[in-house]
Amino acid sequence: MRVTFDMLTPTTLQDALAMLGKDGEQITPVAGGTNLIVDCQSGRHEPKVVMNVHYLPELCQIEELDGMIQIGGGVTLRQLEQSGLIQAKANALYRSALLFANPLIRNRATVGGNLCDASPASDTATPLLALGAEVQLSSQKGSRWVPLNEFFVHVRKTVRKSDELLTAVRWPVPADRSANTFYKLGLRKADAISVISLAISVTLNKDDTIAETRIALGSVAPTPVRALDAEAFLKGKSLTEELMEEAGKKALLACSPISDVRASADYRRQMVEVLVKRLLRESVKQISGGK
Ligand SMILES: Cc1cc2nc3c(=O)[nH]c(=O)nc-3n(C[C@H](O)[C@H](O)[C@H](O)COP(=O)(O)OP(=O)(O)OC[C@H]3O[C@@H](n4cnc5c(N)ncnc54)[C@H](O)[C@@H]3O)c2cc1C
Repeated sequence: MRVTFDMLTPTTLQDALAMLGKDGEQITPVAGGTNLIVDCQSGRHEPKVVMNVHYLPELCQIEELDGMIQIGGGVTLRQLEQSGLIQAKANALYRSALLFANPLIRNRATVGGNLCDASPASDTATPLLALGAEVQLSSQKGSRWVPLNEFFVHVRKTVRKSDELLTAVRWPVPADRSANTFYKLGLRKADAISVISLAISVTLNKDDTIAETRIALGSVAPTPVRALDAEAFLKGKSLTEELMEEAGKKALLACSPISDVRASADYRRQMVEVLVKRLLRESVKQISGGK
């Protein structure tokens, strides 16, 4: 299908926000275009005016600042994959970048585009939820930080307003005695939409009981979700095999999977139980230095 639209090309964030402030309802931002252009070609989306935000320098940074790690909304999956900081301090996000699509897509696809597309199968959403991230939404009127677990509203729906851009994502530098990890279950090893994805972060107290855990699940509900019941259940306890088993069952309370071409709802439920257990075990092993 031939797609036509007008294209705006601001060169600074300020210009971009001014354009959205004037006519946000009519303007669709585009970053890598790996969702938007596919949606245009399939007829799902017919934008009249598209605004290119891919090369805005203000959206391309990855940095550690005052105990937080912050990445710009325009950071690509390739940048994540190549960042020493992300590899060292955000293993779950690093692993999701390695397993994302294929090298061509990773060169263009951005974190902001992945989150704003709001697919239940978003592969950056689960690690960022597990890391306790919040997103910055900016407009001409100012900026607001929204916890990522309040950003997604429904399939392809977020709290972003039409005059806002997703300008940054940040999360606390993980504490000592903590680990975070990610697992993507797909029908093949590359270029696969997640059948389910799962990310977990665990922080242990000195006595090895659980200080905090975050369990995030993708492709099992209309949006990526946190398994809050399982997280509350684990707090303060020592991680035994029985406890991990029980946490897997409690994680199901956050799930309402559908059956589709990739898997049945039943299979997805079974895999949630198996993978919650597996990732909890792996995280604790990482904290104790792989012993
Ligand atoms: C072959 C292929 C394989 C793929 N594999 C995966 C995969 O493994 N895992 C996965 O999660 N996804 C995958 N995707 C989907 C897609 O690549 C990702 O969602 C990607 O991160 C989207 O980023 P983008 O920059 O290309 O977004 P775009 O297509 O540019 O934009 C997506 C949406 O976000 C909005 N938007 C973009 N940037 C901003 C911003 N800064 N502020 C506000 N709104 C914004 C746009 O208006 C649009 O609605 C795949 C796609 C293809 C075509």
